[in-house]
Amino acid sequence: MTSDLYSLVDAADALTQPIRNTERIFDRNGHGHQRLKRVWITNQPSLLVQLHTAMIPGEVYSEDQTGAKLVPRSIPPARLEAINALLGIENGAALWCDRLRLRLREDATGNIRAIVGAQTDSDQQAGILADLRRWYGWAATLTGWQTPPLSLRAPCPLCDDRALRVRLDRKTATCVSCGEAWTEDTIGLLGEHVRRYTAWSEEQARGARERWAEARRAAS
Ligand SMILES: [Zn+2]
Repeated sequence: MTSDLYSLVDAADALTQPIRNTERIFDRNGHGHQRLKRVWITNQPSLLVQLHTAMIPGEVYSEDQTGAKLVPRSIPPARLEAINALLGIENGAALWCDRLRLRLREDATGNIRAIVGAQTDSDQQAGILADLRRWYGWAATLTGWQTPPLSLRAPCPLCDDRALRVRLDRKTATCVSCGEAWTEDTIGLLGEHVRRYTAWSEEQARGARERWAEARRAAS
């Protein structure tokens, strides 16, 4: 699944429209030629709805000893990350409604559609598009918390926390610490950062091994 995110409507659709996947299944005929056997079309809920399934209760939140905050009990970390992303999107969409003096709709999907349809100036449009693209990066990476995205060992290039998550099939990534997101047109930059970090850390490890071997030779 890939998405164009160059206009407000496209970016909003990527978050709020059901996803239609078309998969072509081939087999070979008696002469060994490949032929189309059938086209498999699957419809999935929108990314926001998929993210929302992480909210379905099954486990509960319980208060910690101080009672000051809610702590999760037996909730997989990937699911918490998905819930956190959804809350971030809901808050962000509500904030834009407030700025644009729009009536709040019943959920983030409704708010996002209202924002995209509203009268906005070019600065506001740029801000909304940046937010929609970031939210798409979160949602595309963190949906399907039952099969969590890959965690990268490299630290985030922006906040330096080891909190990078990536979904290779969707070519999206996000940092669950600072909220930065990468989509298909920017993921190459993150890939380059990860490659450099990996090369650098291998270099560091090699240096450490050599120094250790030298110290051992000197001691013997
Ligand atoms: Zn970060």
